[in-house]
Amino acid sequence: MSLETNLNLVKETMHQASIQSSQLKETTLIAVTKTVSGEVVEELIALGVKHLGENRPEKLIEKQDALVNYQDLTWHLIGTLQTRKIKDVINRIDYFHALDRLKTAQEIQKRATKEIKCFVQVNVSQEPTKQGIDLAEVEMFIRSLESYNAIKVIGLMTMAPNGASSKEISNYFKQLALKQKEIAALHLPYAPCEELSMGMSGDYELAIAQGATFVRVGSRLFDL
Ligand SMILES: *Cc1c(COP(=O)(O)O)cnc(C)c1O
Repeated sequence: MSLETNLNLVKETMHQASIQSSQLKETTLIAVTKTVSGEVVEELIALGVKHLGENRPEKLIEKQDALVNYQDLTWHLIGTLQTRKIKDVINRIDYFHALDRLKTAQEIQKRATKEIKCFVQVNVSQEPTKQGIDLAEVEMFIRSLESYNAIKVIGLMTMAPNGASSKEISNYFKQLALKQKEIAALHLPYAPCEELSMGMSGDYELAIAQGATFVRVGSRLFDL
């Protein structure tokens, strides 16, 4: 199948899922480009996709350099960021999806020359191998970010565990959505927390049904 066919299928699926959702906001598709070349991304841009995601800073920088001629792209760093790499990448991105340590926040504060829109990554399923903080610690963690004015907590992010059933995955997404509403209701000026980054190729429909405002989709677009 062509890239265009894949994209249209993903968009149609997103539309159908949004009908089932109580979420009124539109869901933004982030194309996760980590497995493809700059040329393939150019094809995707020509099809109208402007939100691009990479999980590693070096890869993101590489893609940006390959796509310097495009002015209107929005860049998402969706993976964990090692402290020593923050200075190289933080001022090149629009969104950071994997904030889960105070040390990262401190380094962002030190290096950022603009406000960075951040998602706090939550390990809803408490898998030992997954990044992210426990649901029970989200509020405390977010409150501890108050003094870092370079960081705006715009929402929560999670990854569903591999091999979980649809029912389990939906339940993890629902728990994240509840926590997001809880934090939003605190009306913390530095943490509006109105967004939900959840859903990948295998589960973006489920995520949208539970209120995702950003989905991060790679293989479903690029497995041609
Ligand atoms: C790779 C990746 C994705 C996309 O995964 P697919 O299954 O290829 O859609 C989403 N989120 C994160 C954090 C990733 O690293």
